[in-house]
Amino acid sequence: MPELPEAEVTAMQLQSCLPGLRMAHIQVSRRDIIREGGDSIDWYPGSIVRSVVRQGKSVVLEMEKSAHCRYLIAELGMTGLLLLPPAIVKHPQHVHVVITFDQSPRNTLRYWNPRRFGRLSLLDPQGLERYVARRFGYDPLRITQDDFVLLLQRYRRRLKPLLMHQQTIAGIGNIYANEILFRAAIHPNAIANRLKLETVRRLHLTMQEVLREAVESGGSSVKDFLAPDGSLGRYKERHLVYGKENRPCLNRCGSLIRRLKSERSSFYCPTCQKNRRSS
Ligand SMILES: [Zn+2]
Repeated sequence: MPELPEAEVTAMQLQSCLPGLRMAHIQVSRRDIIREGGDSIDWYPGSIVRSVVRQGKSVVLEMEKSAHCRYLIAELGMTGLLLLPPAIVKHPQHVHVVITFDQSPRNTLRYWNPRRFGRLSLLDPQGLERYVARRFGYDPLRITQDDFVLLLQRYRRRLKPLLMHQQTIAGIGNIYANEILFRAAIHPNAIANRLKLETVRRLHLTMQEVLREAVESGGSSVKDFLAPDGSLGRYKERHLVYGKENRPCLNRCGSLIRRLKSERSSFYCPTCQKNRRSS
């Protein structure tokens, strides 16, 4: 379930405590958890953490040793977590990678993932470039309004799956797509290139507001999400439609929230989010 806000919270917490630390060991309990670059694993011990950033729903550790740079990319996917002491996780048998750092009370970074959807990659700078180009479209927090307008004009596709298509816009999953469309008052099946300009502008603004508020609230803990320090995200308390089928619309329009079953469940208000030919 981690989406952009949860990945951002994870990267921010790690960025606040890991840079400058030297990796002592990396222990991988399941070889198939390494997607790419497994043969470079012996390079990593002795390297120093330079930075931790987010790309899409992934977290990237930049490591340096003898003026060389390599990356460790953790996909959070549907279920992955990066945890520091003293965070405690259910089902510790799903900790597949343990990284130990020298000289720090928070010296053990664990990668936990009960499913095999999330993986780790060990890449050099060219490898990272290819990895990012192949997987990630525009970042929803960084895309400008003008670029967003141009992007949506290119697609005669239903809006919600488009917002969740990582190669187009990277980082939004089902929870935030539902919340963004409800707040922007747009039907999930609206066609992207038929939206009016003012609607696309409103969508851009709402998308960035929702994602920023979610980051500030520590993300949404639906199912298993924990930040690296073990804290729960509080944005779930501010969800307006996700998981609220048959409850009254919080806009007090008098309708009940409905659930549309398509690829992923869509929660929407039939009154506030009308599917007009052009809206
Ligand atoms: Zn409503």
